[in-house]
Amino acid sequence: MAWNGWGDPARATPLPEPVTRLLQDLLGVRPSDAPRVRLDQVKVADPRLPGDALTALAQAVGDPHVRADAETRIRHTRGKSTPDLLRIRAGEVADAPDAVVLPATHDEVLAVLRICAERRIAVVPFGGGTSVVGGLAPEAGGFTGVVALDLRRMDALVDVDPVSRTATLQPGLRAPRAEELLREHGFTLGHYPQSYEWASIGGFAAARSSGQASAGYGRFDEMVLALTVATPEGTLELGRAPRSAAGPDLRQLVLGSEGAFGVITSVTVRIRPAPATAAYEGWRFPSFDAGTAALRKVAQDGPLPTVLRLSDETETMIGLARPDRIGALQESGCLAVAGYEGEEQEVAARRAAVERVLREAGGEPLGAEPGESWAHGRFNAPYLRDSLLEIGAMAETLETAAFWSKIPALYAAVRDALTGTLTDAGTPPVVMCHISHVYPAGASLYFTVVSAQGPDPVAHWLRAKHAANDAIIAAGGTISHHHGVGTDHRDWYAAEIGPLAVDLLRAVKQRVDPAGVLNPGVLLPSSR
Ligand SMILES: Cc1cc2nc3c(=O)[nH]c(=O)nc-3n(C[C@H](O)[C@H](O)[C@H](O)COP(=O)(O)OP(=O)(O)OC[C@H]3O[C@@H](n4cnc5c(N)ncnc54)[C@H](O)[C@@H]3O)c2cc1C
Repeated sequence: MAWNGWGDPARATPLPEPVTRLLQDLLGVRPSDAPRVRLDQVKVADPRLPGDALTALAQAVGDPHVRADAETRIRHTRGKSTPDLLRIRAGEVADAPDAVVLPATHDEVLAVLRICAERRIAVVPFGGGTSVVGGLAPEAGGFTGVVALDLRRMDALVDVDPVSRTATLQPGLRAPRAEELLREHGFTLGHYPQSYEWASIGGFAAARSSGQASAGYGRFDEMVLALTVATPEGTLELGRAPRSAAGPDLRQLVLGSEGAFGVITSVTVRIRPAPATAAYEGWRFPSFDAGTAALRKVAQDGPLPTVLRLSDETETMIGLARPDRIGALQESGCLAVAGYEGEEQEVAARRAAVERVLREAGGEPLGAEPGESWAHGRFNAPYLRDSLLEIGAMAETLETAAFWSKIPALYAAVRDALTGTLTDAGTPPVVMCHISHVYPAGASLYFTVVSAQGPDPVAHWLRAKHAANDAIIAAGGTISHHHGVGTDHRDWYAAEIGPLAVDLLRAVKQRVDPAGVLNPGVLLPSSR
């Protein structure tokens, strides 16, 4: 993973020249004057952990698995949002963890948590490091130091139960490896977020991730059947049947808790037989409204494709739905992509049924090419963001969800908030959107914004982002459909759930983490 960008640096692709020129002419994008900082030029402050802490941690996990060198600390600083990247590209690492600890077992995690709680050291559970909401940027004021708890050594497929169609996975397994291991048994998880190449099983559970094939395979939180969680106060074992009437479902308290209530050390998920076939296709709708109505019909009356998404007019025109063809002339109207995975006969029947609904709703079939093109480029957009930052553009995404009846107003409110704030600041943006996940009762909206960076790109973006967050709450949307809360969404999450619910969550945290060392300030305001 690039220390100051996304993924494998060898896969970074420069933008086509006409796209760069267009961004310069249309949006006033200009290369940044700031000097380019190399990894070896980044200055990290000396670690500030209490005297005996490193020794105690080394006793818990083994000497080679406690690291305090500059590069390891820099690589565990924050996550991969655009402000995170802009700051690290500028060499800003004041909040680097003081040490990185790599446990190999649940008991080692328990031992590390005890050591940190006793010494009031903040602990940041670290999976793939792909958080885009400040989930890896705790508020560590008042603590004696910060430890990043990197779970990469806990990367085993523990068990496959083919009778129940379940698998137990360790949290540090990255998604491609998890998929590879399950395929060896003839199964798939079917979880393909855009961060697929780097994100981890524990991170998916902790942040309630949702993959691009959620219409067919479900969200990650829907897949989870059981969890083991290490807390400073002991172990939670949750989930002994797929569903239960034995009180509130405490699995739901851990899913989405973003490391604030404990460290997930094991996840049991439902699995499906690996699909025999996969087919993707494109559809054109005359407008976003018409396409939205069509997706709603499919989501409500079924059957559902495995992948179903719809780009608005701007995103269709720019071609973001097909990142490998960005800059080429695109279709007019709005592009929808439908994908099908499964057994051949079942896929054929489902495809025919969906086709009938989409045609009746005014869709025009575009054949396999746009769908295949989307599938081929589905993990490329983050590399594109690096290229945009490189030429002085600002590029960031945000997402929300609401009931269908609120979707049109939510769409308009967020677009207006982003466009208005950035235009007033002298950097008119291009704002694009797609429906990324559908349910019978509603859908999620995923926005992508590109503008010039301006003199202070982080402050500039945060103004726009805050305006969008306000607009989301005012329009009845949720502050996040799948990125989570982190520190970035915390205040709007509190507004969404209200003060009594915030107190309820605080009480839970107080019981499992009385010293408050787990990800302070993530999810809930730090109590210090
Ligand atoms: C380019 C890009 C595209 C993305 N696309 C998607 C997408 O399509 N869908 C989607 O859902 N998300 C997406 N994300 C967001 C991110 O990938 C998800 O939130 C993902 O679930 C994070 O997984 P991770 O392993 O990287 O977790 P991390 O970023 O390491 O951690 C996320 C949060 O969970 C906590 N945590 C991590 N592991 C554990 C654990 N074992 N126990 C307790 N807490 C833990 C961390 O402390 C942090 O607060 C994207 C991010 C990027 C940068």
